[in-house]
Amino acid sequence: MTQEFQALFGPGEPVAADAPGRVNLIGEHTDYNGGFVLPTAIPQRTRVLLAPRPDDTVRAASTSIATEISVEHYRLGAETSGRGWLDYVQGVTQVARAAGFSFAGFDALISSDVPIGSGLSSSAALEVALLRALRSAFGLAIDDVQIARLGQRAENQFVGAQCGIMDQMAASLADEHTALFLDARTLDYQRVSLPVDADLVVINSGVAHDHAAGDYNIRRAECERASRTLGVSQLRDLDSAELRRLDVLPEPLRRRARHVVSENERVLAAVQAIRRNDLPQLGRLFYDSHQSMRDDYEVSVKEIDLIVELARADTEIYGARLTGGGFGGSVVMLAHAGTGSKAARRIARAYADRSGRSPTVLVPAV
Ligand code: ADP
Ligand code: MG
Repeated sequence: MTQEFQALFGPGEPVAADAPGRVNLIGEHTDYNGGFVLPTAIPQRTRVLLAPRPDDTVRAASTSIATEISVEHYRLGAETSGRGWLDYVQGVTQVARAAGFSFAGFDALISSDVPIGSGLSSSAALEVALLRALRSAFGLAIDDVQIARLGQRAENQFVGAQCGIMDQMAASLADEHTALFLDARTLDYQRVSLPVDADLVVINSGVAHDHAAGDYNIRRAECERASRTLGVSQLRDLDSAELRRLDVLPEPLRRRARHVVSENERVLAAVQAIRRNDLPQLGRLFYDSHQSMRDDYEVSVKEIDLIVELARADTEIYGARLTGGGFGGSVVMLAHAGTGSKAARRIARAYADRSGRSPTVLVPAV
């Protein structure tokens, strides 16, 4: 990649930084409600090569967008949204400078094997990798939680996607061996070892979503309306003993709130199940979570439902669910130890035959 960098930007030794995509095990659409999530890092990563410039120009290119790489540029302080993928770069520089971090212009080359728009958070991987590259090139005194917060702010304030904090916290703090059990309200987290007696499986359905297009923001607004009506600051403040309180809400707000309240409890139950190594119970929680996302939160699509049903019919799978914000994306599964690769390929093949889509097995990585 250094050669490619130099071919685009001229001689110079860039710094290198990267950040992983993430798969959320359970706890979907709970982060922006102040609740709990349980993501882990996937092997796929986004890489940034970056070299400072003597002026305040940013030049950036990505190998992920088109077959022909094009170099985009802008001046620090003159960030203007509406430029597609460059908005993620512009958003990062704008919010980092607004937060008081100072750096010069730079040249940056982005590459990635995190699939885009597949529920595995390529956007947070990009934001975090870029912030890490800036930290390293300009000696910024910024810690991993601050990096996550700035990434989220870039996406909320500049890109216009009202995502919660899970994706950036996972990209910045998660590793592949543990799940990050995160309280999205306080940002307290614990690392929970992944079960050794099970294989994690992630299948990309080949149906890409488009968060910024609005469905995600609509769900978030529905939750805010629900919590205002109920007189709580966030839906996190309700537990399942209080489900009757949701009856005052008009539909679909009642179902949206029921998903969030029940999903928060499923995250807590999942952490308990992992700690007890109770894999059948963990698997049931995956299926329950999927059903709640499909029926109450209405963020699944028929392709994703098909993959989950194929998993349910497969004796090697403990549980499966839509992972990420939804409207397409990927399915996360838990398989009996040693069977993950084969089961994943079997399910992906059956899904491809029935849907005509082109799935990819991302985990276990080959
Ligand atoms: P995801 O679930 O993958 O995070 P988003 O819609 O949140 O989906 O973010 C995807 C967008 O992030 C892409 O459309 C693109 O604008 C930007 N992006 C992600 N990865 C890259 C990359 N490697 N190079 C350039 N832009 C990227
Ligand atoms: Mg994203």
